[in-house]
Amino acid sequence: MNTPPLASGPEGRDALRPLLDTVVDALREGAQARGGPLSAGGPHAVAARVRDAVGTVLPDEGDPEALRRLVSAVAEGAADPADPFCAAHLHCPPLAVAAAADLAVSVLNPSLDSWDQAPAASELEALVTRQLASEVYLFRGAGNCATSPHRPEALVTTGGTESNQLALLLARETLGPDVRLVCGENAHHSLPRSAWLLGLPEPLIVRTPHGTLDPAALDTTPRGPLLIAATAGTTDAGLIDPLPEIADWCAQRGARLHIDAAYGGGLLFSDQHRGKLEGLAAADTVTLDLHKLGWQPVAAGILAVRDNNDLAALTQRADYLNADDDTEAGLPDLLGRSLRTTRRPDILKIAVTLKTLGRTGLGALVDQVCDLARQFAELVEDHPRFELHAPPTISTVLFRPANATDDAVAAVRRMLLTDGRAVLGRARAANRLWLKATLLNPTTRPADLAGLLHLVEGTTPR
Ligand SMILES: *Cc1c(COP(=O)(O)O)cnc(C)c1O
Repeated sequence: MNTPPLASGPEGRDALRPLLDTVVDALREGAQARGGPLSAGGPHAVAARVRDAVGTVLPDEGDPEALRRLVSAVAEGAADPADPFCAAHLHCPPLAVAAAADLAVSVLNPSLDSWDQAPAASELEALVTRQLASEVYLFRGAGNCATSPHRPEALVTTGGTESNQLALLLARETLGPDVRLVCGENAHHSLPRSAWLLGLPEPLIVRTPHGTLDPAALDTTPRGPLLIAATAGTTDAGLIDPLPEIADWCAQRGARLHIDAAYGGGLLFSDQHRGKLEGLAAADTVTLDLHKLGWQPVAAGILAVRDNNDLAALTQRADYLNADDDTEAGLPDLLGRSLRTTRRPDILKIAVTLKTLGRTGLGALVDQVCDLARQFAELVEDHPRFELHAPPTISTVLFRPANATDDAVAAVRRMLLTDGRAVLGRARAANRLWLKATLLNPTTRPADLAGLLHLVEGTTPR
């Protein structure tokens, strides 16, 4: 029998090169067959094409063309965030350099549950997470955290959902099982869901008629241990809750504060926009998602923690991974940095990106997408047949055809999806349904924005 080549080891490089060429070519082939932001024809047509390309999932005899065929099929049926008309979700086009770094992770396959599976990657994670934690907690105007007895730290997660879940777990371990989550109805669904998962009391969801959490509305919260969760960059509209006022309220009431900056956290890299996150450093925990405003391939989540002592709750011993005598002999103990066991070093692509682009390069990407959103909002506002919800805070624009019903708005979105011409999101705000454009593609040009609006106009029934 011919053993298939391994990705690493002496034959790795020679085996990998032609396969990478196959992948890159199949990606292009698939994209050409698609010819737009997503495959035309809707779910049935896409599913049929995939079934055709796959054929027998587990054939008796292997198919050497499988890599090309399946990559090409998945690329053809992808919603490509690098297409300027693919702008529905917080779904960014990843940077080439980050994807290349991620390939190295697949090849080396380190696992961050013990030092002997990831000696270098574990040190890299320690270095980079410490830097990210200080970006959150020591940024200009954040006060004198540097003199505090605690040290900020950060954990790597699979995304905002896991970060929010860990934040609630740390709140429970710090304040006890009666801690009640209080968040706005603008908060991400993963927050109340985590409260359910962790067996916490029923969360208190505060109404947010203007899209952000009003600190005055917190005055009606009951006594007892509280975790207030504010949002910096709401999923629907990209709005930022009044963080300094909420932080003051928490300080006065002795409540713990979590800030979900899954989307807005990327603003930290921009001199122009960082000020919008004032108050962030007051949070006990902060969620960041670098697979949103950070141009990373999924997954690239971070949970920053102001006081590293809070992480003691995650300490775990397993003799086969971090035996006491190994730890005493100086082997780093990594198990307490996650609830997962086997864990891929997502930190490598993040580290490569931070160092390749630098603060200036990343900040420029942030500025670029925020500027695109501002331009798109201006086009909408100046257009007699469209209505703008509000000027964008980050890079999300809510808009709708003037005088359309909610059903018509929903139908326009589905029509564009089905025809494979544009991927726009939807959001409810001010009691109406809006189309949502989330601009995360820094290569989008002004002409693309005009083209997108023109396309929506042409799809709207008169
Ligand atoms: C996207 C998002 C999340 C969830 O993050 P995932 O990476 O999808 O798990 C949480 N909170 C907010 C505000 C988000 O926008």
